[in-house]
Amino acid sequence: MIRIAQPLIGVAEEKAVLKVLKSGMLVQGPVVRRFEKKFAEYIGTKHAVATNNGTSALHASLLSLDIQKGDEIITTPFSFIASANSILYVGARPVFADIDPKTFNVDPEQIKEKITGKTKALLIVHLYGQPCDMDLITEICEDYDLKLIEDCSQSHGAECKGKKVGSFGDCATFSFYSTKNITTGEGGMITTGNDKIAGRARLVRAHGSRKKYRHEILGYNYRMTDISAAIGIEQLKKLDEMNKRRIKNAKMLTKSIKNIKGLILPHTIPKVKHVFHQYTIRVTDEFFLSRNELAGGLNKKGIETKIHYPLPIHKQELYQKLDYHEHLPVAEKASREVLSLPVHPGVSEEEVEYITATLQSVG
Ligand SMILES: *Cc1c(COP(=O)(O)O)cnc(C)c1O
Repeated sequence: MIRIAQPLIGVAEEKAVLKVLKSGMLVQGPVVRRFEKKFAEYIGTKHAVATNNGTSALHASLLSLDIQKGDEIITTPFSFIASANSILYVGARPVFADIDPKTFNVDPEQIKEKITGKTKALLIVHLYGQPCDMDLITEICEDYDLKLIEDCSQSHGAECKGKKVGSFGDCATFSFYSTKNITTGEGGMITTGNDKIAGRARLVRAHGSRKKYRHEILGYNYRMTDISAAIGIEQLKKLDEMNKRRIKNAKMLTKSIKNIKGLILPHTIPKVKHVFHQYTIRVTDEFFLSRNELAGGLNKKGIETKIHYPLPIHKQELYQKLDYHEHLPVAEKASREVLSLPVHPGVSEEEVEYITATLQSVG
């Protein structure tokens, strides 16, 4: 089976983990600090604060920005649930702006429509590895005096005009879950250039404590283990190379399937580095099979696919119960049409050829 995602863990990671296990210092120790330093250098921010997953990184970020009950945060309805749920965690209200049909990222024009007196921040997601249009997003933040949080859980190493995502916002978050562009099993990171935000995130991560058994604010246990950080340091060294392979696989896929009637292929906007966390096509009504028939056909031939995401966030049962009844047509249509094909660095050239040949013959 050609899997839709697959962590690439090698001897370097194994050795690094063993070294930590033998060191006697397993959590929030020197290896975590080294990973934070390397990650901040890589992204180009002054600070990086490691957490135990990407969701806790989002929660800690919103707390560090002092987002509170009654605040409105504009975000995308087309993402993994964590990006919006983190807003609920702090008692604020996620306000959904519809997406751009070509990139699947939140549409800046739609954001403007949703701004009210209560809007405090934008929480954007660089979906599938493609950066949002950061010129437009930062302009909105300046014009309306809004804070910016970037969810970079799918875009490690992606760039907008040569600048890495994760360095644009007041703060940004990453996930190192096992399917992401780099992994630590479970893990997360907050990046920021702001001393105060970094300091507060560190407090939130460790039960509000700077000094052992002295607690200044309400915090959580969001610490990363040194075992995870050891894996992360080795993964980070390989990130650019692994992204290169994702980009190469994506180019090959596009070249071979661009002329199939009824399939719409990923669109990359100018001046960005898209790191293809996912290679997601649209299966439209013009295609001779339904999306589910195509997915089933590929699966029978040993090719795993996935739908990211089958239901937009505002349509989830949880949000229905919270009285979200608006219609966001672009996100809803995307949910009915998208299908992700294997693009990760574990997919070989021959396997890409097999995928494209199968796509042409399936049915
Ligand atoms: C994976 C992901 C998260 C959550 O990260 P976890 O490490 O699984 O908690 C948040 N947002 C997006 C967009 C993601 O893809």
